[in-house]
Amino acid sequence: MKSVENLDVRGKTVFVRADFNVPLDDQGNIRNDTRIRASLPTIQNLLARGAKLVLASHLGRPKGKPDPGLSLRPVAVRLAELLGRAVIMAPDVIGPEVAVLKTNLGDGGILLLENVRFHPGETKNDPELALALAEGIDIFVNDAFGSSHRAHASVVGIAGRIAVKAAGSLMKKEVDFLKKAIHPAKPYTAILGGAKTEDKIPVIESLLEKADQILIGGAMAYTFLKAQGFGVGKSLVEPDKFEIALTILRKAEERGVQLLLPTDHVLTASLESGTVVQIATDYPFPAELLGVDIGPKTTAAYAEIISRAKTILWNGPLGVFEIPAFAEGTMQIARAIAASSAVSIIGGGDSIAALAKAGVSDRISHISTGGGASLEFIAAGTLPGIEALEE
Ligand code: ADP
Ligand code: MG
Repeated sequence: MKSVENLDVRGKTVFVRADFNVPLDDQGNIRNDTRIRASLPTIQNLLARGAKLVLASHLGRPKGKPDPGLSLRPVAVRLAELLGRAVIMAPDVIGPEVAVLKTNLGDGGILLLENVRFHPGETKNDPELALALAEGIDIFVNDAFGSSHRAHASVVGIAGRIAVKAAGSLMKKEVDFLKKAIHPAKPYTAILGGAKTEDKIPVIESLLEKADQILIGGAMAYTFLKAQGFGVGKSLVEPDKFEIALTILRKAEERGVQLLLPTDHVLTASLESGTVVQIATDYPFPAELLGVDIGPKTTAAYAEIISRAKTILWNGPLGVFEIPAFAEGTMQIARAIAASSAVSIIGGGDSIAALAKAGVSDRISHISTGGGASLEFIAAGTLPGIEALEE
């Protein structure tokens, strides 16, 4: 992988695909700026060497049209604070106004494009969008490890339009570390939770080839339980993933991989109530309740397996950890991972926030800025965004 340090960038306009997909609170404030801070080494290195920067990222899932709640403007403000320099916020992703702003950039100037997913072509890897993004750009740098598992226009499409391209230092650091997890020391325990089941379930299939134990929690557990016919009340499930969930359970059994689902559950009547109604150890759950955390029995069983692991991969909180009454399982698991002597790799925006909340971030071997991307890289050994840099 070519590294940006080896390129002559003075006076060049460099497009940096960064990962500024930070968690926001209800008021639109940045809840955790780890991903912005992680992008600073590449940005500062390019600025110090006299480049003009055009920065791009997505934020959330705006469905291909502008959504004021998902503007990158708060990121521009935070980035300017962290860099101690002006960051120009573009009004759009492409278009005549943006073209003028690109042309007028001086050496050391920084332009942040609006959320690339405001444009419907981004997730479709539309060639016209890729061409427009590449307009006026001399060098393409991909520093968005966390987005590189997607063949999107600002990650893959643009790379095909620019001859000079390289990986940023964050991307390099991620790849160098995660390469080690492709051949993990055993036992290899993967812990998967969170809500983005759609992204994560396909990766479990490849994890089945490598992991010794897969511990499931979070909302994802309910898709697995419901797929087997257990009544889970109002818990979050993804019916279109039932079939693949059953396939995964069958393959795990065939391969002798221990795939564990929670055996007890913290139930509530609503997230808003913020209170526990009961701990369920049996099915069906009362129809009006939903599962929001793993229970104490599950937590103890998972922690025991974690204590024996030599490699640990964690992506996705085990419950709705943002709400104190439903955070216990996630906090305990975070502490168990921190206490273990295994190589530990944690990925995913919310998982990183959970680690910080448990106060154990400094006891993890590698905190990956990518959730799905780290899982997929470990499974496949490469990512579409990395391949595109090599073409
Ligand atoms: P990451 O960002 O670490 O990849 P995800 O984005 O997939 O993780 O999932 C994080 C979200 O999952 C959190 O907001 C959390 O509240 C939610 N979550 C976890 N468990 C549940 C559950 N049982 N029901 C609903 N949401 C859940
Ligand atoms: Mg998330």
